[in-house]
Amino acid sequence: MTAGFAPWQQAAYTRATVSLDEGRLGHALLVCGPTRIGKRALVDHLAKRVLCLTPDADGEPCGRCRSCTLFPTGAHPDLRIVKLEMNKEGTRLRSEIVIDQARDVGAWLSLTSQLGGAQVVIVDPADAMNTAAANALLKTLEEPLPNRYLWLVCAQPNRLPATIRSRCQRLELTLPNHADALQWLLEQGQPRADAEAALAAAQGDPGQALLWLTTGGMALRKQVDADLRAIASGNSGAMEIAQRWAADGDAAQRLRFAADLALEQATRLTAATETRRLAKWFDQANRVRDLLRTTVRADLAIAGLLLEWRTGNNGRTEGARRA
Ligand SMILES: [Zn+2]
Repeated sequence: MTAGFAPWQQAAYTRATVSLDEGRLGHALLVCGPTRIGKRALVDHLAKRVLCLTPDADGEPCGRCRSCTLFPTGAHPDLRIVKLEMNKEGTRLRSEIVIDQARDVGAWLSLTSQLGGAQVVIVDPADAMNTAAANALLKTLEEPLPNRYLWLVCAQPNRLPATIRSRCQRLELTLPNHADALQWLLEQGQPRADAEAALAAAQGDPGQALLWLTTGGMALRKQVDADLRAIASGNSGAMEIAQRWAADGDAAQRLRFAADLALEQATRLTAATETRRLAKWFDQANRVRDLLRTTVRADLAIAGLLLEWRTGNNGRTEGARRA
């Protein structure tokens, strides 16, 4: 295996390198798959491979040349990463990749490479490009140059304009089946029960599951579950919990977990009114999550959502509760 890849990364990487070696890899590549499946690690290694000045017999990066040495420093002169940047005020990360970041990509790719090898632009997350930024890339996508690569990394390719999608080759990373995903998590040293729970929470995405297991995500989810129960039973105040949820940088993650938990609850129920109520609350939770990126006061927005949760649960009929 290459670069410590998981099997599903390795499979996609092998497809890409076979195309590359046969000269079939288009200069514009759309690398897509679920959020934490490991797209970026794959693309980074692919970049290291095409940029390496003295690759080994398999075409793998040598790890010693000037390109390979510069690569991990983030200062490789022939590699450019287009990503979400801070807003003008420097107060928060922009939610979009804007035209200023995309405008001169084409011009940059047409320059002579500094190290005499390939040049690579990685746009990640490409589905965060706004329309103007995407349009600015179109011309570059249409005019391939030898040994120049433009790779778009994204979880939701359908959010990209069709004009962009149609000009890119696609490299898809797909979720492994449950047994393979679980096996991989066990190999990462996770206890089986924890791995099972995280995999279920991450809807089968092992990369996401591992991240939650190793960075406190699963503990946060458990706390959100407990908070929702406490609110539903009237044991905790919505405002008090909302203030706690909004107090640190995890508000968006809590809302995502809350929405997921509502959906989970809905799948266990049979009463149509209850399912509809939970589906509505799921949408509402996601809307509040979007609001967090605006100037709306997070604690108030969350409190409104949690009050709705309490009201909805109080209003449940005994029949629905049993169902
Ligand atoms: Zn090298």
